[in-house]
Amino acid sequence: MTAYMDHKDLANETISEERATQIRDGVHRVLDTIRLSEQQAGRESGSVQLLAATKTRDVGEIMAAIDAGVRMIGENRPQEVMAKAEGLQRLCAERGLNLGATDAAGSDHETVPFHLIGQLQANKIGKILPIVDTIESVDGLELAERIARRAVARDITVGVLLEVNESGEASKSGCEPSEAIELAEQIAAMDGLELRGLMTIGAHVNDEATIRAGFAHLRRTRDAILASKTPGTEHCTELSMGMTQDMTLAIEEGSTIVRVGTAIFGARAFI
Ligand SMILES: *Cc1c(COP(=O)(O)O)cnc(C)c1O
Repeated sequence: MTAYMDHKDLANETISEERATQIRDGVHRVLDTIRLSEQQAGRESGSVQLLAATKTRDVGEIMAAIDAGVRMIGENRPQEVMAKAEGLQRLCAERGLNLGATDAAGSDHETVPFHLIGQLQANKIGKILPIVDTIESVDGLELAERIARRAVARDITVGVLLEVNESGEASKSGCEPSEAIELAEQIAAMDGLELRGLMTIGAHVNDEATIRAGFAHLRRTRDAILASKTPGTEHCTELSMGMTQDMTLAIEEGSTIVRVGTAIFGARAFI
């Protein structure tokens, strides 16, 4: 357990009017930025989805984002998924929304997808599969196979994205860019998984051209996977790339999911 989890009650459901207003304004600002970037990049309106990156935020803060129009959330740590799941599922159901893999509001209701966007240890897979519908941080065959086995045993299909380390930075997870196409084809063929796309974290540098090059390479990789027509790769359409710092660049380079935390919720006290 990390320090912030010791002093912040992640299951808390009650936040101040002022905090709710801050979050609502954040969501609206980010949605406006996305629409404007789509337009300026000549892309269809609505082609980029906003995923709220909710690490360190509590249930009340996350529900304020959902009430403001967020329709996809992502957590980094299985422990945080577990701590918030019950409250989020119940409050979503009260609003006529299903959350992630659950069907609390009924199957004819809208679903708010719930993604895992951080590293996953194999011993946590069973815990999160009843809750999240998509794992964005699959970076190799071994993890994919373990998720697939669990999915088959539960008779479900789990969405996965292959994470690619486009920047080559040692601190980042993800497979080597040169391995991505072959890995994607193998993962796409696994029973129990649906390969829905690719994910990357932009280079942590102050150079627009370098950041863009990584995003553009991920897009070309996705296009090559689709063009291969290997069975199972036909669903590999998503490009999850872009965060608060680089979402406009990512949208210009073809992102379909931007993962945004700070611009919605404000700066994090920890991690
Ligand atoms: C925290 C996080 C984000 C969002 O980052 P911000 O800079 O707060 O927008 C996106 N992706 C991943 C994997 C994250 O951990």
